[in-house]
Amino acid sequence: MGRIVMKFGGTSMAGSERIRRVANIVRRQQAGQNGDWHEVAVVVSAMAGETDRLVTFCREANPLYDPAEYDVVVASGEQVTAGLLAMTLQALGCPARSWLGWQLPVHTDSAHAKARIEGLDSDALLASMASGVVAVIPGFQGLSDDGRITTLGRGGSDTSAVAVAAAIGAERCDIYTDVDGVYTTDPRIVAKARKLKFVTYEEMLELASVGSKVLQTRSVSLAMKEGVRVQVLSSFIDDDATPADEIPGTMIVSDHELEGLDMERQLITGIAADKNEAKIILTRVPDRPGAVATIFGPLAAASINVDMIIQNVGRDKGETDVTFTVPGADLLRAQTLLEAQKEAIGFNRIITDAKVAKVSVVGVGMRSHAGVAALMFRSLADRGINIQAISTSEIKISVLIDEDETELAVRVLHSAYELDAVD
Ligand code: ASP
Ligand code: MG
Repeated sequence: MGRIVMKFGGTSMAGSERIRRVANIVRRQQAGQNGDWHEVAVVVSAMAGETDRLVTFCREANPLYDPAEYDVVVASGEQVTAGLLAMTLQALGCPARSWLGWQLPVHTDSAHAKARIEGLDSDALLASMASGVVAVIPGFQGLSDDGRITTLGRGGSDTSAVAVAAAIGAERCDIYTDVDGVYTTDPRIVAKARKLKFVTYEEMLELASVGSKVLQTRSVSLAMKEGVRVQVLSSFIDDDATPADEIPGTMIVSDHELEGLDMERQLITGIAADKNEAKIILTRVPDRPGAVATIFGPLAAASINVDMIIQNVGRDKGETDVTFTVPGADLLRAQTLLEAQKEAIGFNRIITDAKVAKVSVVGVGMRSHAGVAALMFRSLADRGINIQAISTSEIKISVLIDEDETELAVRVLHSAYELDAVD
């Protein structure tokens, strides 16, 4: 008998009919195959669109709303689905009860609207699960030390699920969603995208941070830190679908586990694209020690994340152009901040461009292989796609290009790295 955490997202919980389908999947998982039943905890999201609706109410009530009261409001969406799922399970003859964030409790810090989980008490939960009762836990919510409801930030139910899995030592955390796994790239862009059987935590983090929105990034970091095995799979399945225990979805595992599992890995695991980037160029910045610190210091102080950075050399008179990217949503703020520091930084002009996209190739295989970057640059050049900036990590190469060329670039790279499905 194993212990399993199952998490269902908003689309899977949207309405009575879908909740019934979820209840059936849960019941089947609990019953197991060949009489080998499971202890099951289910973490749920609010119905799709519900959290947005609640956020709108908060804004209408008070544009400068108190974040603590915002949490009271937005946490309610998950309370509804948790109760409904417990009832639906009971209607199917499956014992179930809900455990709200404050009842477990899920301890968090008191950073309202973006709280971090510090731990959760699992004794009562485990005792109940062991007696055959399915535990239904609303995701996204927690309790601060001073006894107030908190929420974990948008998409936070994924993180709740991983935290529960870590706390109860689950053998797997199955994240049920509206896609059947993690793909080599967005199947809406590339019809020949392939579903991956395995992906490592690090690859998933890189893919998530560059625009593949399957899981909340924080949930992946937590899973990596706690060694929780996560499976992404579809909740839109028939009764005769392959059981989750046989891994129909994509498993997110450690590098080490992967080595034993998948000997014939591709060099590159996936291609991601992110259009939410904006480029800033500062011209004729003095080429002297401390110059870039005066640029990035104020941005960091304003919590604006700078991603790609290029400092062009070669201007005469000891000057240089500095190009970098920030999240599109922060462009205006960054621009205003930099203009206010014009004297101190000593630049000549500021040029901005929000019509850029970051396209990345990701894969642990590139650690041990040369030529990955060269192939990327050559493939893009052959299609006349101009690269405006480059950044790399050990397992990722990203280029900044014109936003209009995003889809073309993704397709070209998907073929170049031989990721296209062969049929
Ligand atoms: N309901 C919350 C949101 O929409 C949390 C979640 O679904 O993960 O962000
Ligand atoms: Mg989600």
